[in-house]
Amino acid sequence: MADLVTVIVRFLPGVVGETWRTSHLVPVDIEVGIPETVSTYCGVRIARGTAEVLEAYAGMPCELCLLKQPRSGAGA
Ligand SMILES: [Zn+2]
Repeated sequence: MADLVTVIVRFLPGVVGETWRTSHLVPVDIEVGIPETVSTYCGVRIARGTAEVLEAYAGMPCELCLLKQPRSGAGA
């Protein structure tokens, strides 16, 4: 069973329009690290070099990613 962590990524300025620069969530296998191309929970594919990894949400979070991310178990 792989150890997955969720990282927050956002396209760099100029790669996409400002309205597309939402903070996406990406599952990453910590054993492998961040691959060349990652798939967000909402299905967007992001190539390395076109996005930045964020420590915390900045700007607008991607609602689809929030909906599709696995629940951590606690709560409802
Ligand atoms: Zn997303």
